[in-house]
Amino acid sequence: MDAFGNYKSVISARIADKAVLKKVQDGGIVTAAFVYGLENNLLDGAVVASVGEEFRAVPKVATTVEEILEAAGTKYTTCPNLSVLKQAIREYGCEKVGVVGTPCQIIATRKSLKYPVGFRHMNDKIALTVGIFCMENFPYNGMKTIVEEHCGVKMDDVAKLDIGKGKFWTYTKWGETKSIKLADTHPYEQIACHVCTDYTAELADISTGSVGSPDGWSTVFARTEKGEEFLNGMVESGYLETKPVNEGKFGLELLAKLANIKKSKNQKEIDHRKEIGLPVPY
Ligand SMILES: Cc1cc2nc3c(=O)[nH]c(=O)nc-3n(C[C@H](O)[C@H](O)[C@H](O)COP(=O)(O)OP(=O)(O)OC[C@H]3O[C@@H](n4cnc5c(N)ncnc54)[C@H](O)[C@@H]3O)c2cc1C
Ligand code: SF4
Repeated sequence: MDAFGNYKSVISARIADKAVLKKVQDGGIVTAAFVYGLENNLLDGAVVASVGEEFRAVPKVATTVEEILEAAGTKYTTCPNLSVLKQAIREYGCEKVGVVGTPCQIIATRKSLKYPVGFRHMNDKIALTVGIFCMENFPYNGMKTIVEEHCGVKMDDVAKLDIGKGKFWTYTKWGETKSIKLADTHPYEQIACHVCTDYTAELADISTGSVGSPDGWSTVFARTEKGEEFLNGMVESGYLETKPVNEGKFGLELLAKLANIKKSKNQKEIDHRKEIGLPVPY
């Protein structure tokens, strides 16, 4: 099985600005890419997931570094980022838009480039797609149940959420850490995620996630020429620190294992749905 899709290079990296590193989810690659893009005139806006009341995820067109920084961090709930893509181009007048998204959102972005139904005259304005690895997602109420009922934390008090080492972690604004076993979160997953076979955002220009790199670092794939050029620019201008990716058991091997688990588990679900006559994604 092809675990990762096509890519040109893979590294471990983190944002060089130590103050920003404290605010981001992992190595801050998404934030670094958009800040670098805005500061170097390669982007004039980006479609991101900002955080709203009670830790809701709200799609937003960010056109300043402050807005990019505000949107840092993972929201473990669906956020229709692409719903504001047209707005970025038509209302904000962006000519060079960055898009961050889960693998399904990157697939949707590519689809809009190839088959621009409702997206005419927009494809030359998408300057960079940054995909984030994704095993599964939760509808807002699912995430809320995990946080409030299992972790005992009010949504208003959430500072950060994370999934790692087999657990779902909730960090509060008051410095507490609560967690539950990831296995106990499965009932709250978004059902559509069970037919998704892309773990590492295979169609993005740049893909990134935490798995495969040490804490505070990210695994980063440059997949397209554009992605590689962008990433090299970030490194050369000092926006990123890098190191070679660990190929072994705690690096790419682990990443491949998880990607293949997702692919085979969800392919079984697709086959099952086909068998009983339910709609399937492709
Ligand atoms: C639902 C979900 C599941 C994930 N599962 C895994 C996993 O299994 N393994 C793994 O290694 N990584 C996973 N990730 C990715 C990981 O949590 C980080 O988002 C990624 O490593 C980027 O970190 P960063 O420090 O570079 O990002 P930051 O610099 O902190 O920026 C994060 C960016 O992601 C955007 N964003 C946040 N939440 C969402 C969302 N819900 N939908 C769309 N965009 C969003 C924000 O706008 C922000 O720009 C998952 C992310 C999500 C949203
Ligand atoms: S599991 Fe797939 S469908 Fe679900 S949010 Fe992640 S990429 Fe999208």
